[in-house]
Amino acid sequence: KLRVRFAPSPTGYLHVGGARTALFNYLLARKEHGTFILRIEDTDVARSTQESVDAILRAMEWLGLSYDEGPFYQSERFDLYRGKIETLLAEGKAYRCYCTVEELDARREAAMKSGGKPRYDGTCRDRTDHPEGAPFVVRFKSPLEGETTFVDRIKGPITFANDELDDLIIQRSDGTPTYNFVVVVDDAEMGLTLVIRGDDHINNTPRQIVMYQGLDYSVPEFAHVPMILGADKTRLSKRHGATSVMAYREMGYLPEAMVNYLVRLGWSHGDQEIFSMEELIEKFSLDHVGRAAGVFNPEKLLWLNAHYIKTGDPVRLGELLKEYLGNIAVDTKGGPEITAVVKTLQERARTMVEMAEGAAFYFKKEVDYDPEAVAKFLTSDKKPIFESLIAGLASCGEWNHDGIAAVFAAVMEENGLKLGKIGPSVRVALVGGTSSPGIYEVLEVLGQAESLRRLRLALP
Ligand code: GLU
Repeated sequence: KLRVRFAPSPTGYLHVGGARTALFNYLLARKEHGTFILRIEDTDVARSTQESVDAILRAMEWLGLSYDEGPFYQSERFDLYRGKIETLLAEGKAYRCYCTVEELDARREAAMKSGGKPRYDGTCRDRTDHPEGAPFVVRFKSPLEGETTFVDRIKGPITFANDELDDLIIQRSDGTPTYNFVVVVDDAEMGLTLVIRGDDHINNTPRQIVMYQGLDYSVPEFAHVPMILGADKTRLSKRHGATSVMAYREMGYLPEAMVNYLVRLGWSHGDQEIFSMEELIEKFSLDHVGRAAGVFNPEKLLWLNAHYIKTGDPVRLGELLKEYLGNIAVDTKGGPEITAVVKTLQERARTMVEMAEGAAFYFKKEVDYDPEAVAKFLTSDKKPIFESLIAGLASCGEWNHDGIAAVFAAVMEENGLKLGKIGPSVRVALVGGTSSPGIYEVLEVLGQAESLRRLRLALP
């Protein structure tokens, strides 16, 4: 039975790369009816914060990545790690190292000068005395000969010569265990069958495998996912734009667009671009995760977002729209029905922020007139036609698209005018500017009373 995990270090927000790793784990767990575990890797007490933990949990919830076990906190598992280190020491598979930093530096330098490797030279490896009170670290005794091989589920077979592997420190001089060690203990104790993580960890994997062996654990499978790069092919960073998942929420992205975008950043299924979560759970597999790094493409994300807004459920989008309107201090109380508003903007808004900006005019009690548009379109020669329109609309019995269109048709006919002559002026009167959904839609959604109020107010 598949058991996978996401193991973020809570030292910041959830990065898009981390989110993609979490997503791949989640999808595979759901697809294979396995278990998805969340583990917070907070052994670095100085850099880990509760705020980051909360931010990561919120981002996962937003994306819909629910987990089955956890969150587990490594900071609560120190007794377990300490016990394992004691066992390794007792079995002679780890040793106390009393070398000081200065000694290590000097020897490393000397080794490199004579063409050697900068690895630990093994001074304390077979040491039997224990200098009283001297500070020490604990090192794991890596094999000196042979090779360590694993078959990566994405990259294929990978072999490291064991003499490349250092005798890693597994316990610092302050008694705390180190990352590579606790990851092994936890992945084994939590029964993971597959470790999916970023390929920045690939050099850790052979070091971890020899520790699995030292601890008599069975070794899980590994799948190392290629990094995400910016357009300039360097590792994705703030220079390329937002890297925090939740920053995209703030910018008006929908979680389904984010999920769809992230999954395609490294995985493909023929030339299909649009996937619902259900479809992803059915179709996702590591076999079609590419070996090359994915390049983050903000335009494609925007395109997907526009798609999900266009096809989204207006009721749900309405709830979201209220939030985004709130962010720009627009109160929807007493205004037109939010679902109706959404329907007039779904076609054109690419983000919820754009939708909110486009929807604000419906709710503002005072129309924000653009002076240029007013000067150009609300000229005094429009007065007679505005008056006939107001009269026609005031007696319009059926306030809907067709009823409104019929009033306009009659007034145009009577005055021998085309709609193009008056449309922009009506729009400026209702909206304040020159861009908005179609004017019949705007009139319909604003309602008869409010439409007439605005037309009268703007009467040139
Ligand atoms: N905590 C590590 C990180 O955030 C992940 C460790 C792992 O996936 O093995 O990079």
